[in-house]
Amino acid sequence: MSNRILVIEDEEAIAELERDYLELSGFSVEIVNDGRIGLQKALNEDYDMFILDVMLPHMDGFEICRRIREDRNTPILMVSARKEDIDKIRGLGLGADDYITKPFSPSELVARVKAHIARYDRLVGSQPNDNDVMRIRGIKIDKTARRVWVNGEEKTLTSREFELLVFLAEHPNHVFSKEEIFKEIWNMESVGDIATVTVHIKKLREKIELNTNKPQYIETIWGVGYRFKV
Ligand code: CA
Repeated sequence: MSNRILVIEDEEAIAELERDYLELSGFSVEIVNDGRIGLQKALNEDYDMFILDVMLPHMDGFEICRRIREDRNTPILMVSARKEDIDKIRGLGLGADDYITKPFSPSELVARVKAHIARYDRLVGSQPNDNDVMRIRGIKIDKTARRVWVNGEEKTLTSREFELLVFLAEHPNHVFSKEEIFKEIWNMESVGDIATVTVHIKKLREKIELNTNKPQYIETIWGVGYRFKV
């Protein structure tokens, strides 16, 4: 999977230049042109690096940098044209990993991004207790922490809902009957009330599906059961 980079930059030409060069190098890039929205995305989704302009609408790059650092160690490269910004980035201890001044050479930017991502990968890879995380399109399941995010937003699942989701997601495209699911999740012979499966599927869909009438993840196979679609 390619590394994801979030570019928070309100100058369209610069943002597109950064994106084009980074994509040529195999990175996957998203652009946000507003500071506050950028911070939200940075905190709610999973990126491998942030490229952060200083002057932005609604929230400046210094504040965004500080707030990202309170929550995560993802590399941050700050971009600015003003000398006083650079002094601030260096002096304030905001936690930025690097900075680059405008105008910059795109190949210099790409080289720095590659170096920071490689360094961060080594750092994260060397940590012993990596959580067991599954990602299926917009869904992220941290099996170790038993937490679930849908399009970056954390959802609160009951223990049974969580087990049901993990079980289905671990067997993509496999159709299970209600009886099979009941046996698996409720861990007893299927003499109980299998209607409970229907109820839990319904509740789970309300939490993970955008439109429960047109489920994108948990499909009903009429007359047979359910499957997790990938
Ligand atoms: Ca700007």
